[in-house]
Amino acid sequence: MSDTKLSRRTFLRYLLGTGAVAAAGGVGVGLAPAAQTALARTDAPKARYALIIDTTKCVGCGACVHACNIRNNLPEGKSYVHIVPKDDRGRQWFLPVQCQHCADAPCARVCPTRATYRHESGVVLINEKLCVGCKYCEVACPYQARTFDEERGVVDKCWLCLDWVSEGKDPACVQSCVLGARIFGRLDDPNSEVAQLVASGKAKPLHPEFGTHPAVLHYIIEGE
Ligand code: SF4
Ligand code: SF4
Repeated sequence: MSDTKLSRRTFLRYLLGTGAVAAAGGVGVGLAPAAQTALARTDAPKARYALIIDTTKCVGCGACVHACNIRNNLPEGKSYVHIVPKDDRGRQWFLPVQCQHCADAPCARVCPTRATYRHESGVVLINEKLCVGCKYCEVACPYQARTFDEERGVVDKCWLCLDWVSEGKDPACVQSCVLGARIFGRLDDPNSEVAQLVASGKAKPLHPEFGTHPAVLHYIIEGE
């Protein structure tokens, strides 16, 4: 097991130890689906962070995809970030996609064990100890942001490198993007670049019609 994987698990254990998981709904197996849905909606705290992807700067180089692979010690070719090539009437551009950390997350609503929960930071996490590998969440995610780890029998996805973020550092994908297409910061700081981009209306959620209210990820898409 790598150091990165260890640090991630240690972090999740820390969350369990502090009761953050319980507070966010990581316990309570057996609650009726309707009750879980209600909890997911009413307890959703305000996101503290935003990751804005400037699609006008992204060249689809895949550095973020590889950085994610290395950070999370994933098998070759696997990443929590994928790049979707776009061609709009001859204009070619790239759309990097990963977990949108939805405030109203379908993945959390369908999870029968409440392994998927929303952390107080707004980041959607998975308590692997509670995951039974049913893949309901994978099917429910409209952004196709989840993958199944065959070896461990649990689902997995972007967790925004929350251990690094808690230490004031940027997620691996942000650190890797030398073109500055990834902008990360605190939404609760009105002077931050991300807060100003969101306030200006320039950065918007991806597919707002899904009604999931992506809490952390916003996109700047030229021409929209
Ligand atoms: S590293 Fe930056 S420029 Fe490269 S694909 Fe990712 S977001 Fe786009
Ligand atoms: S993007 Fe998918 S995996 Fe991420 S919180 Fe939303 S529904 Fe869940």
